[in-house]
Amino acid sequence: MEKIPLIDLRAQYRELKDEIDAAFLRVMASGEYIAGPEVEGLEAEIAALTGAAYAVSVANGTDALALALEAAGIGPGDEVVTTAFTFFATAEAIVRRGAVPVFADIDPATYNMCPLDTEQRITPRTKAILPVHIFGQPADMSAFSSLAERHGLKLIEDACQAIGATLEGRPVGAMGDAGCISFFPTKNLGGYGDGGIIVTNNERIANEARLLARHGSRKKYFHETIGVNSRLDPLQAAIIRVKLKRLEEWNDRRRQAAEYYNNGLRHTPLRLPAVMDKAEHVYHLYAAQYEHRDELMERLKGDGISSGHYYPCPLHLQQALTFLGYKAGDLPVTEKTCAHSFALPLSPHLTREQQDYIISKVIQYT
Ligand SMILES: *Cc1c(COP(=O)(O)O)cnc(C)c1O
Repeated sequence: MEKIPLIDLRAQYRELKDEIDAAFLRVMASGEYIAGPEVEGLEAEIAALTGAAYAVSVANGTDALALALEAAGIGPGDEVVTTAFTFFATAEAIVRRGAVPVFADIDPATYNMCPLDTEQRITPRTKAILPVHIFGQPADMSAFSSLAERHGLKLIEDACQAIGATLEGRPVGAMGDAGCISFFPTKNLGGYGDGGIIVTNNERIANEARLLARHGSRKKYFHETIGVNSRLDPLQAAIIRVKLKRLEEWNDRRRQAAEYYNNGLRHTPLRLPAVMDKAEHVYHLYAAQYEHRDELMERLKGDGISSGHYYPCPLHLQQALTFLGYKAGDLPVTEKTCAHSFALPLSPHLTREQQDYIISKVIQYT
C-alpha cells in the first residue's frame, strides 16, 4: 500500500484538473489580477451558500477574524470568550485587536466550546463570544445566541473549518453577527494559496469590514480610516469557484468516510467523534481519542499511515499567550483532550481500500 496522507490534495486536483486549469488560464488572459468578476462571483456564491446577505472576501481566515472583530466594534481591553481547543489564529486575531481572549473549556464529546462554562467567564468587560465550529462540527449556536442576547454581546463564528456544515438545517457562518471562513488549501473548500471571507447579515458590519480590508477607502485614493490591504486574488477566487460546485458532494463523501470509520472502529478502545443532535458535521478532520495515542500514531506511521496531532498544545498554554496568566490545570477537559486526540486520514478522495487498511491497523494496535 502506498503511503496515505492525512488529506490528499493532489487527488482533489486530478478530479477537477481540466476545469481548474481553464479557470486559471481565463484569469491569466483577462488582465484583471485584483478584484473583478471572479471575486464578486465567489462572494455572491458564498453568501448564497451560507444564507448570508453579505460576503466580504479577504486575504485569509485570520484576517477574516480580525476584521470581523474590528467591524463589530471589538477593540482594546474588550474581553472575547473563546475556546483554547482550536488553531492559534482564533486567539491571535483577538489579541491583534488589542482585545483579551478569555478561554472557556470544551465539551469532551464534541470538542466544541461549552456554553455553561462560557457563561461563567462573562464579566462586565466581555464584548463578544467567539465559538469555533471545530473539525467541521457546528458549535451549540442556539445556546450561544441566547447567551449573546441575554448579556448584550456580539457573536462571531470561527467557521474556518466548517463551510457547508448545518445546525437544524441552517448553515453555519451567518447565525451570529458575522462568520469567518478560510480557504487555506487543506480546508474543505480550499484554494491554491491563502484566502478567506467574512459572511454577515449585518449591513453595517459588511460595509465596515470591506472598508477596513481595502485601505479604509471607498473611493480610490480617498481614505476615511486606517485599514489594511487584505484581498482575495481573482486567481484564487476562480479556482475556489470550481471547487465550490463539488463542496456538497465532497462533504457527503467525508461524512460517508467518517461513518465507515465509526463502524469499523466501534469495537476498539478509541473514543470516536460524537455528532451533536441536529448537526450536520462536515468532518474537516476525523478526530478520535486514545490513551496511548503517541504509540499508536508512531506505529501507524511505520505502516505509511499519516495521522495528525490536533491540537498538541492548547492556546492557553502557548508561549505567545503566557501574558494572559493561564496555567496547566485551568482548562481540564481541553488539556486532557489535547493529550489524547488525534486525526486519522480523511478526505473526499480517501478510498475504501485505504480505509480498510487503516482500520485493520488500528484494530491490530489497540
Ligand atoms: C485555518 C483556521 C484559521 C485561519 O485561517 P487562515 O486562512 O489559515 O488564516 C482560523 N481558525 C481556525 C479554526 C482554522 O482552522
